[in-house]
Amino acid sequence: MNSKFSRNQDLLSRSLRSVWHPCTQMKHHEEMPLVPIARGDGMWLYDFDGNRYLDAISSWWVNLFGHANPRINAALTDQLQRLEHVILAGFTHEPVVQLSERLSALTGLSHCFYGSDGASAVEIALKMSFHYWRNGGQPEKARFVSLRNGYHGETLGALSVTDVPLFRDTYATLLRQSTQLPSPDWRDARPGESAENVALRATGALEAYLVAEHAQTAALIVEPLVQAAGGMAMYHARFLQEARLLCDRYGVHLIADEIAVGFGRTGSFLACDQAGIRADFICLSKGITGGYLPLSVTMTTDDIYRAFYDDEMARGFLHSHSYTGNALACRAALAVLDIFKEDDVIAANRVKSAQISARCQKIVQHPRVRQFRNTGMIWAFDVDTQDVLFPRRFYSAALERGLLLRPLGKTVYFMPPYVIEEDQMDLLVDGTCAILDGMK
Ligand SMILES: *Cc1c(COP(=O)(O)O)cnc(C)c1O
Repeated sequence: MNSKFSRNQDLLSRSLRSVWHPCTQMKHHEEMPLVPIARGDGMWLYDFDGNRYLDAISSWWVNLFGHANPRINAALTDQLQRLEHVILAGFTHEPVVQLSERLSALTGLSHCFYGSDGASAVEIALKMSFHYWRNGGQPEKARFVSLRNGYHGETLGALSVTDVPLFRDTYATLLRQSTQLPSPDWRDARPGESAENVALRATGALEAYLVAEHAQTAALIVEPLVQAAGGMAMYHARFLQEARLLCDRYGVHLIADEIAVGFGRTGSFLACDQAGIRADFICLSKGITGGYLPLSVTMTTDDIYRAFYDDEMARGFLHSHSYTGNALACRAALAVLDIFKEDDVIAANRVKSAQISARCQKIVQHPRVRQFRNTGMIWAFDVDTQDVLFPRRFYSAALERGLLLRPLGKTVYFMPPYVIEEDQMDLLVDGTCAILDGMK
């Protein structure tokens, strides 16, 4: 046993004793080892033995420009010399102001309210929407509607509008009642139906709901174009266009949860851009700091902002998180926006997306593969298997091949950092095919 190996082992056992890992049945780690990571570099994560793993899921969808990115590192190093953090109530600082200005210019929504995680951004949007109607004399508009198979985070408010049974069912009695309407997921197409037909069918259900319930409904919350955690369900932009019209007609807010899909993931800066619509609230997090620091933002319109602007304290939005608008996190986000601009990332990703899709032809043709799909920098397919342990088996087989892939049920997906190179695309696609070939 060399010293590096023992360092790996030591970290693993200490982690299992003291760290309660997220989204995990800890007992599974009796058989499935944790992966100790010593350092990251670009697309790669390295353990202490020098084994490396291609981070094909952007470390839970947060890393856009690789690990230890020199430009983000430089920005953070500079910011460390100036200001790490300051209370944002009553105080302000350059990174938070600049970030708000630049996000407003990119999205068309003029006011930014900061949180720390995606779930907190969703909580903020839900509370703001409800409070807007209350300030306007319509406190009965207090319900939320979302889509089946949608995911919006796991704090109680966000979980109330989430529809992933594994995360939700245990806590059902703690949650506020909300309604889930049919998803426009194109996999639900009936014979002869296009993705757009499925979207219009879902629109019909939304309209029927709003006709009956709009007087009690504050907002509709959706994941634009891709329902990510629910299994990378993809849908036609027409649904968003029709949802926007219906929300306007029935006086209901539209909340675009762009936490997973924003920052270029679907091929445009916001997923909503592809539908040509503007939501009343946008939630952003995950990629916002390039995977460096926790930060989220809920953006909204001037109209909504003004409904809170008043002499009376309680009409204001009295919500806060200790680390709201953290200066280091905002500076990382500014570095991310700089990279988008300097490298014309949206255009560069169009080329990379086509390169990966071309390689994926052999996945499409694999006999185990069903419903292959792609939107921008997300690829997904369902695997035909009866194995209830499939997600864990696939994950372990991928690690053995030096790939970090983490299926959602029977759905395997790629969501790589935007810095992926062609030889790494080959490793990813060839490795995936080899795992599928090796399945019993
Ligand atoms: C991940 C995610 C969230 C929750 O974000 P956290 O930072 O994990 O709290 C909310 N909505 C969507 C669409 C997400 O993908």
